[in-house]
Parts: sequence; C-alpha cells; structure tokens
Amino acid sequence: MKAIRVHEFGGPDVLKLEDVADPKPGAGQIVIRIRATGVNPVDTYIRSGAYGRKPALPYTPGTDAAGTVESAGSGVTSFKPGDRVYTATTLSGTYAQRALCDVALVFPLPAHVSFAQGAAMHVPYATAFRALFHRAQAQGADTVLIHGASGGVGIAAVQLARAAGLHVVGTASSDRGKQLVFAEGAHRVLDHKSANHFEEALAAANGRGYDVILEMLADVNLGRDLGILAPQGRVVVVGNRGAVEINARDIMTRDGSILAMSLWNATPQELTSIHAALVAGLENKSLRPIIGQEIPLAEAARAHVAVMESGAYGKIVLIPQ
Ligand code: NAP
Repeated sequence: MKAIRVHEFGGPDVLKLEDVADPKPGAGQIVIRIRATGVNPVDTYIRSGAYGRKPALPYTPGTDAAGTVESAGSGVTSFKPGDRVYTATTLSGTYAQRALCDVALVFPLPAHVSFAQGAAMHVPYATAFRALFHRAQAQGADTVLIHGASGGVGIAAVQLARAAGLHVVGTASSDRGKQLVFAEGAHRVLDHKSANHFEEALAAANGRGYDVILEMLADVNLGRDLGILAPQGRVVVVGNRGAVEINARDIMTRDGSILAMSLWNATPQELTSIHAALVAGLENKSLRPIIGQEIPLAEAARAHVAVMESGAYGKIVLIPQ
C-alpha cells in the first residue's frame, strides 16, 4: 500500500509517499481501508522533532482516520468487513491507505456521516469533550469562551457546548471563520486579532465573566484570560506554543483555576465513554464535523503547511487515492 513515511524529523518536505507492506490484523485487531485521514497540528509538532513524544524513525504519521473494515483478527465480534468506522489512534499511523487498529479504539460511523467527517472525530472532538466536561466540569447555563473556535477543536467545542445548554462565545480571525463559528452555534463571535476583544468578551458575558474558557493559544492569551473569569471560573489550556506570564492575583481573587489537558493522558475507559457520547452526537446530528479542505494523501506536506496557517475553517483532511 501507499503510505507517508518520515525518515528524519524536519520540515514538511520530510513527508514522503512510499510503498509499504499491507498490515495484517492479529487477535483483537482490525485493518481499516482508509477513505479520509485527519490532519492535526500535533502531527506537525511530532514531524518537526520538537515534541515531547517522538516516534521511532521511520514512522507513518497520524492518529485520526475513517473508512471501512477490511479484515478482522481473531476475537473481533463488534465489526465485520465492510462496516463504516472511524478510529481513535492506530498501531500503524493513518497517513496511509490502510491502518492497523486495536478494535477497542474503533467506533461506528453512522451512514449519514461522511468519511471526511469521521476523520475529524477523534483528536478534535475527544479533546473538546474532555476539556469541557471532564476537566472544566461544564454544565448547562455556564458561560464558555472558546478562544480559537474556528479550527478543528474549536468547532467541536462550539457544537458540544451549545448542545449541552451553555452560553457560547467563540473567537476567530477571518470573516468566513467567524461566520462558521456563529453558524455552528455560538451565541456571539469575536475577533481574537482585535486589540479590544477581551473587553468585548467581558461585555458579552454581561460583565460577570466566564465560568469556562477553552484556550487554544495560551502563550498569547492566558494572562488576560484570567481577568475575564467569573468567580470559580476555570481556564482549560488546550493549545500552547510558548511561555506566558500571568498575575496569580487574577485567579486568587476569583477562586479560579487554571487547568490543562493532553488527550494522550485519557485512559482507555475515558476514551470509551467519550466516544460513546460522540457517536450518539453524530447519530442525533448535534455533532456535524466541518471539513474545510480535502487534500490528496500524496500532498501531505501541503496539508502540514495549511494546518499551521491563520484563517482556520474546520478540519483539513487527507484523501488516499
Ligand atoms: P486548528 O484547526 O489549526 O485551529 C487553530 C485555532 O486557533 C483556530 O481557531 C485559530 O483561529 C485559533 N487561533 C489563532 N490565533 C489565535 C489567538 N491569538 N487566540 C485564540 N485563538 C487563536 O487547530 P486545532 O486542531 O483546533 O487545535 C487548536 C490547538 O489545540 C493547537 O495548538 C493544537 O495543537 C492544540 N490541541 C491540543 C490538544 C491536547 O490534547 N491538549 C488536542 C488537540 C489540539 P483563526 O485561524 O481563525 O485565527
């Protein structure tokens, strides 16, 4: 099969399309014929070699994909060849025509959900769910600021928060990104490139502040986030690309909390529980992944440039030929 392989850490041009052996399923495993692969910012951090988790070289990137079950190993009773599925992490990488998966991390993809949408489920939606409900303990009627709402995690968070009855304020920088955030359920949309957007955000929460802030770029925003928290408010750091200065007095006076999360830390039980909720959301159509760009697998390098650019619009996915 064709797969993208990385033989050395570096820029996007280290992503090479190569021929590799087809995977074969062992006990409790399945092989998925991939129809779409999710591209996440973390794929670029890992590729660059600057990330805490470094795979052994060479490796095939990617954790998210959707497609059909091609073959199943012994003991697999939950899926059969031909079933439509998406996966949450694989044993072989997802920038490929096929992936070897632990069956516990494969979930059914409802018929009305496209493969591209299925490839947008795991990292974006599981992260948004875990940040909102496990870490921040968000509840209906809370106010939430989704700081960076136009990308994969942000759109997922907007849909999840709105379906759970929160008052949702989201931010984006491009006009089409802002329109998308509003269309997907935010009550109010602000521009995080605008100099006074923190004042606007506070006004949008009636001056009381936010019970929950999901922060996609903590190194830029965390210090000022603390000043727009409500009493007992919680910031969850989801994305961060550098150091940041805070004034601890801002959380002290509010009995506030700075929380953080990495999806890698989710336990198998948490992932089972999260994906049960996500599949239900796909079935009842409260979750509708938005695909901004489909790029051929062979052009993975272009996707790695695009995912780091400003002006996010939902997800970027790769399509194997
Ligand atoms: P994405 O699709 O590339 O979206 C990036 C988002 O960040 C866009 O909404 C973008 O808005 C926004 N952004 C840009 N500048 C911003 C600013 N100054 N303030 C607030 N937001 C800003 O990425 P993603 O998949 O949603 O992931 C978002 C971040 O979370 C990334 O850093 C990613 O690495 C991280 N992440 C962490 C975990 C975890 O387990 N902790 C899991 C998944 C993702 P515009 O483009 O409209 O400006």
